[in-house]
Amino acid sequence: MRRRDFQRLVESLESLSPHQLRQLDETVSKLAQQTAVRELVTAHVEREGQCPHCQGNAFQRWGTTASGEQRYRCKKCFKSFTGLTGSPLNGLWHKSLLLEYAQCMKVGLSVRETAEQLGLHRNVVFRWRHRLMPPNSAHQPEALEGVAEVDEAFFRESFKGLKKGMPRTAHKRAMPAGKRGISKEQIPVLTAVSRGSRTSFMSVLPGVPSASSITSSLGPLLSKDTVLVSDSASSYKTAAKNLGIVIRQIPRGTHKLGPYHIQNVNALHSRMKSWFKPFKGVATKYLPVYLAWFRFYDESGWSRVPEDLIKDAISRPRVRPNGPSETSTLE
Ligand SMILES: [Zn+2]
Repeated sequence: MRRRDFQRLVESLESLSPHQLRQLDETVSKLAQQTAVRELVTAHVEREGQCPHCQGNAFQRWGTTASGEQRYRCKKCFKSFTGLTGSPLNGLWHKSLLLEYAQCMKVGLSVRETAEQLGLHRNVVFRWRHRLMPPNSAHQPEALEGVAEVDEAFFRESFKGLKKGMPRTAHKRAMPAGKRGISKEQIPVLTAVSRGSRTSFMSVLPGVPSASSITSSLGPLLSKDTVLVSDSASSYKTAAKNLGIVIRQIPRGTHKLGPYHIQNVNALHSRMKSWFKPFKGVATKYLPVYLAWFRFYDESGWSRVPEDLIKDAISRPRVRPNGPSETSTLE
């Protein structure tokens, strides 16, 4: 817009009624959000993006799409793309709400609360959540070095959202698990963290933790000079023996053994439990991605911002095995 026209536009605002001003305010804030998302995507692509067709990194701006998104053309394969092509966020409607949405995710609002705040249907909110959530394979540590604390946390088995084919009778909300302690209704999550690091390893185990499931989960991450620290369970001792590494086990009823303890992994569990609380149970099939979502913020000491979650999503490919179906399954 020409400067003089803009000046006139600004001057004309004074004649608006209070109702018109509120309407204008809404429009401006929506446009500002849209622009912020576009700028975020553009900056990300131009700094570290690559052609989604051939992975080449030489490309140029190539006009805009019908909906106003920046388009690029690859100098190698000559195909065009936008910053979202091939990413889980491609084809989303209401993209202008993405930043606000990611903020709702950071503070852990439920699907229903988010739907209310953004004026979206809860099925849309649910689908977005699963597009934005990092897969469990992302952000896992590549290795557990030095002193690595390991323990397991338990989540109640949940078939939330499943309407047909329940393998057992449905529980009412907040109903306590039928059996105390370790049972088939409790899903074990093996967690490990190297002392001095915030990146935690998490793996949903197929059943009650055993020496073989612990060995195969931790094996690829441990090196011969890692010292594993665990509670007194014998399965850890056997796993360490299988892997040929040193283990220090904290005797039952005590908190430490010389310089060794599992306080870091216990603190991680307590942050994890309080973060999961507002969801009032997560469907077991989605537990791995919820763990990854928790870790995404936790490993940064909660310093990551909504923009980081969006950048993370547009950097990964769309196809994700075992993703949610387009049903109204919540959480
Ligand atoms: Zn290309």
